[in-house]
Amino acid sequence: MTTKYKGTCLCGSITFSVEGFSEQAAHCYCSMCRKFHGAAFGTLVAVNGLKWLSGVDQLKDYVAPNGTIRTFCNTCGSSLGFRVADAPIEEIELAIASFDEDIPVNIDAQIYTKYKANWCELQNDLPAFGDERKS
Ligand SMILES: [Zn+2]
Ligand SMILES: [Zn+2]
Repeated sequence: MTTKYKGTCLCGSITFSVEGFSEQAAHCYCSMCRKFHGAAFGTLVAVNGLKWLSGVDQLKDYVAPNGTIRTFCNTCGSSLGFRVADAPIEEIELAIASFDEDIPVNIDAQIYTKYKANWCELQNDLPAFGDERKS
């Protein structure tokens, strides 16, 4: 039996489950993540075994000027995911905050920190990258 982790948008129309997560996940302080999430940073994670359980008709995409695609709920506006330009929905990285239970993900970096808001403090215990993560 495979463990499944479930997530929902705020209004509950969109529900989904995944079977696993990428080992890497970072808090992103870029201005696009900040605005999309309405928060100090956004945290997205790549997943595997994603299944949309309900509300697929509520999924709405916003394509930014740089071609990246951000997906949200058409009813409640919850930020649900991100994918690179022209990627199919199967390649969506999910907003980690949309999960309704504990998930086996460790945040291991802070990225695009040079764009962070002045009122937000970085976490001292995590490596920080001014732009993208360097491996
Ligand atoms: Zn919703
Ligand atoms: Zn970002």
